[in-house]
Amino acid sequence: MNERLHTAYSPETFRAQAHALVDVLADHLAQAETGQQPTLNYLDPDDQLAYWQADFKKPVNADPLPLLRDMIGRSIHLHNPKFMGHQVTPPLPLAALTGLLTGLLNQGMAVYEMGMTANAFERIVTHWLAGRLSLGSEAGGLLTSGGTLANLTALLTARAVAAPTDVWENGTSDRLAIMVSDEAHYCVDRAARIMGLGTDGIIKIPTNDRFQMQTELLEPYLEQAKARGLTVFAVVGSACSTSTGSYDNLMAIADFCTKHNIWFHADGAHGGVAALSDTYRPLVQGIERADSVVVDFHKMMMIPALVTAVLYKRDTDSYRTFQQKAQYLWADANAKDWFNSGKRAFECTKLMMSAKVYAVLRTYGDEIFTENVDTLYGLARRFAGQIQQRAGFELAVEPESNIVCFRYVGDLTDPGQLDDLNNQIRRQLLRDGQFYIVQTTLRGRVYLRVSLMNPLTTDDHLATLLTEVERLGRAFSKKDAIVL
Ligand SMILES: *Cc1c(COP(=O)(O)O)cnc(C)c1O
Repeated sequence: MNERLHTAYSPETFRAQAHALVDVLADHLAQAETGQQPTLNYLDPDDQLAYWQADFKKPVNADPLPLLRDMIGRSIHLHNPKFMGHQVTPPLPLAALTGLLTGLLNQGMAVYEMGMTANAFERIVTHWLAGRLSLGSEAGGLLTSGGTLANLTALLTARAVAAPTDVWENGTSDRLAIMVSDEAHYCVDRAARIMGLGTDGIIKIPTNDRFQMQTELLEPYLEQAKARGLTVFAVVGSACSTSTGSYDNLMAIADFCTKHNIWFHADGAHGGVAALSDTYRPLVQGIERADSVVVDFHKMMMIPALVTAVLYKRDTDSYRTFQQKAQYLWADANAKDWFNSGKRAFECTKLMMSAKVYAVLRTYGDEIFTENVDTLYGLARRFAGQIQQRAGFELAVEPESNIVCFRYVGDLTDPGQLDDLNNQIRRQLLRDGQFYIVQTTLRGRVYLRVSLMNPLTTDDHLATLLTEVERLGRAFSKKDAIVL
């Protein structure tokens, strides 16, 4: 073997690098978790690119540690309790460590021998979660790379099972459609378009003032769709929606789907986990009646991205998603062999994602998931209370999950000025880097948006955030007043 390859594969080199890196990461965690440092050091995209372009031109360095340290410094820190922006979890260190192991073992998963343990774990983990969602004795499922792909997978299954024609085999000129709320995650729209449904095939049901699907409109919208020659084969319920974290009435959707023999898909990518909590289980009442459910482990379940479960009320349905013969992979393309991951998942080669979930379950028990959802949902309710008590703030809607939308109003009333003001506040927070929050547009107006993803975030951090928003709000309103 040539010298370079030999060194690169050397166990002793690995040992030394890994020990050093674990120390660096542990120090990083210790620092991030204090919340004393900025959550991110924001740099404009072009400046960031220029930095790394300059780095890329340097001669190779046999010691990777400076590079790895630099990557940490130039990343957003999810373990900082002031990280409360997008819906990505600060991963459990154990899950990340398991990721090191799975990275090195690199089992391909598609066929049994290439992921013997990981395929068994996947079966156990999906059955465990299906059980916690009360999907019934015939339930099962698979893991895939993210909620976006998971929703596409479930909708492909829905079409294979519930559409009147075999689209997979014959293609179709039928006008197929799904129904979904206008607050659903954009990936549902994208999945439908990938499936060739087009704009007409995505029937958006308006939401109420709590941003939940107006389920009483399902009947009239179905009638209209039929009159236009469309065949609705699936309804997607959001549990919860992305912008405001609102839960659709899954029971009402289940009733509608049962009545009309339509596939009921629940997008629980973010909030399906509420089923694991005695306190919050009522939010997902009806999810147990879904034909398919999607749950992201990398949102509310502390596993690094990407790990998503696609669960089916009838596990056998999952074998109909990709009815494809791959003779070189499988002896019998029609057998329902759970241990060949590639038969039911979109991916061919797939990460051993089940291992991270399994390791967490075996080490901490599933109570850790319950405690995380209880902690974060509780924190959001108390944060909403803080917002309502502060003069000059407005809560968009009472939070049902751990997502809270609000805005600073001060003494302004003009809607355009309020939008500008909150845009400015958010931009300044990003540049300051202490807190990381995001923004969203609700009914055409700009709101600040917080997803409480880090269980180390406290009421005090949130009070400090509001004080900071208020300080910026006051300063910017004054500046605006002068300009005006
Ligand atoms: C995040 C999210 C998705 C997309 O999942 P990814 O894992 O980011 O691909 C889909 N639906 C809902 C409701 C979500 O919150």
